[in-house]
Amino acid sequence: MSRRIPGLLSGALVLGAFAVLVVAEARRPLRREAEPKLRHDLRNLAVAGLSAATLRLLEAPVVVPLSRLVERRRFGLLQWAPPPRWLEVPLAAALMDYTLYVWHVLTHRVPFLWRLHAVHHADLDLSASTALRFHFMEMAVSVPWRAAQVALLGVGPRALSAWQSLLFASILFHHSNLRLPLWLERRLVPFLVTPRMHGIHHSILEEETNSNWSSGLTIWDRLHGTLRLDVPQDRIAIGLAAYRDPAEVTLPRILAMPFRRQRPSFLLPDGRRSRRRRSSAWSRRRAPDPAAPGHGGTG
Ligand SMILES: [Zn+2]
Repeated sequence: MSRRIPGLLSGALVLGAFAVLVVAEARRPLRREAEPKLRHDLRNLAVAGLSAATLRLLEAPVVVPLSRLVERRRFGLLQWAPPPRWLEVPLAAALMDYTLYVWHVLTHRVPFLWRLHAVHHADLDLSASTALRFHFMEMAVSVPWRAAQVALLGVGPRALSAWQSLLFASILFHHSNLRLPLWLERRLVPFLVTPRMHGIHHSILEEETNSNWSSGLTIWDRLHGTLRLDVPQDRIAIGLAAYRDPAEVTLPRILAMPFRRQRPSFLLPDGRRSRRRRSSAWSRRRAPDPAAPGHGGTG
C-alpha cells in the first residue's frame, strides 16, 4: 500500500529543520557573511514562496498522479524489474538523485536553463535559505524533467515522497552556513554532500562552480570526476563574479534577472576573469576513496 507523507507534516518538518539550521548557523558560522543575515534570509524566503506556489500549481498535480499511474500500470524501470521490497525506496531515491545530478549539470550547461539557475547562484551568501532560493521559472521548467524521471524510472508515490523528503533535508543541510567539526565533515563527505563541499560549487570561479553537482550522494560526482574538495572555505567568494554589488541582487532584481540581458556570469564587472592560485586543502584528497582505510580521517 502506497502512502505519502501528509503535506502538513512534511511542511512542519521542513520548517523545523530550517529553524534549527538558522539558529545553528548563527552560533557556528562557516563563512563570513556579505549581507545582514535577516535581510538575506527574508529575501530568499520570498523567492522560495513563489517557487513553492509554482510547485503546488504545476508540479504536484502532474507528478503525484503520474507516480500513482506508474505504479498501477507497472511502467518504468523499477516496475519492469522490481528489486526486493526493502530495496525499492532506497534504489528509487538513488536513481532520482542521479538523474537530478544530470539535471543540475544541464541547468549550468544549457544557456536558457542557466539564465534561471543563475538566480540561485547570484546569492552573495550561502545559507539554509539559499537551499530554497530558486526562481519560480526554474521550478516550472523542471516539471517535465521530474515527470520523465518518475515515468522512466518507475517511481511510485511512496518512493517519490521519501525521495522528496530526503532531498529537502539534504539541500537544507549542504547549503547551510554551518561549521561542522572538520573530522565530522571528512567522515561524511565520502557519502553525503556537505556544506564545505557545496560551498565550492557556489564559488565565483567558474572552474570551481563546475564541480560538486550532486544533491544527495557524493558518488555521482566521484563517478564523473567532478568532485572537488581542495578549496578552503575562507578562500571562497560566494556568488557570481558578474554580480558582486548587493544593490544588484535585491529581490526585484533577482526576480527580473532571467528576463533581462545576461552578463557573462564568470567575468567581474570590470571584465576581468577572477583567478586564485591553488592553496592548501581542507581535505588533502581530491576525491576521497571509500575503499582506502581511514579515508577522510587524516589531512
Ligand atoms: Zn548549481
